[in-house]
Amino acid sequence: MLLGAHVSIASGMYKAFERGEGFGCEAIQIFTKSARQWAAKEITDEIAAAFKEARSSSPIEKVVVHDSYLINLAGQDQERWEKSVDAFIVEVERAELVGADYLVLHPGYYKEATRQEALDRVVEAFGKTLDAVGKVNVMILVENTAGMGHGLGAEFFDTGDLLDAMGDDTRFGGCFDTCHAFVAGHDLVSDYDGVFSKYDDEVGLERLKVFHLNDALFKVGSGKDRHSRIGEGFIGADVFTKLVNDNRFKSIPGILETPVENDENDSYGHEIVKLRSYVKGKNTRKKIDWGEYE
Ligand SMILES: [Zn+2]
Ligand SMILES: [Zn+2]
Repeated sequence: MLLGAHVSIASGMYKAFERGEGFGCEAIQIFTKSARQWAAKEITDEIAAAFKEARSSSPIEKVVVHDSYLINLAGQDQERWEKSVDAFIVEVERAELVGADYLVLHPGYYKEATRQEALDRVVEAFGKTLDAVGKVNVMILVENTAGMGHGLGAEFFDTGDLLDAMGDDTRFGGCFDTCHAFVAGHDLVSDYDGVFSKYDDEVGLERLKVFHLNDALFKVGSGKDRHSRIGEGFIGADVFTKLVNDNRFKSIPGILETPVENDENDSYGHEIVKLRSYVKGKNTRKKIDWGEYE
């Protein structure tokens, strides 16, 4: 797995690379704008060029963008839905501008509608998005969710149905969040193989492009989405050991979204060193200096 973390773009988008490198990341995830606001500062040619320049000399191999938390493509309220679609189009355009590999989204939530109506809404939104952005290289990844309230994505077949509805369009794929899966009832602890064979049946492992590596503060099936540090939650070190040694996921980014303090004793650097210590055999990736956290 390409180990990485969600990093800040404060005081310059390109700074995400030096932050990520400081933690020993092989992949990073960013927001290209505030995740809790609709408005976005324009990505000028200079900003995009600086980002790509920083990437070209960085050992970081993959760049993932996460979309805004405000966007709900499954909603039934027309005005809010249109606003969400417009905002999602902007997210895709921005991710494309900076040359990101993937854009992750939560499929959305619904009230006073059936699951099918909600899915149809998302598919319609994806269609509008593709019409608006034209040919893009960035892949759009549907993340599995914790399943609180009327949320799509707690079942793997929600993702599968959405991807199927997009036909064989290779611009779509899946993102697997370990905490979300576990609290939604997919028991990685007692049945690691079963969970992934289910994902394979309902989505297809070949369509899985990014992991979010988060331990879970609450129990399996609790529906409560609270992340905890790796090895300190109900998922535990054994599952993460299996994941980082699973050959099927060898070249897939595994992005940390765990609650670290960002101080010298507790940062994504420490989380990555912990994950690396779970990797069996020799470290074949020589480009990165792990010294700082060892
Ligand atoms: Zn996530
Ligand atoms: Zn979460």
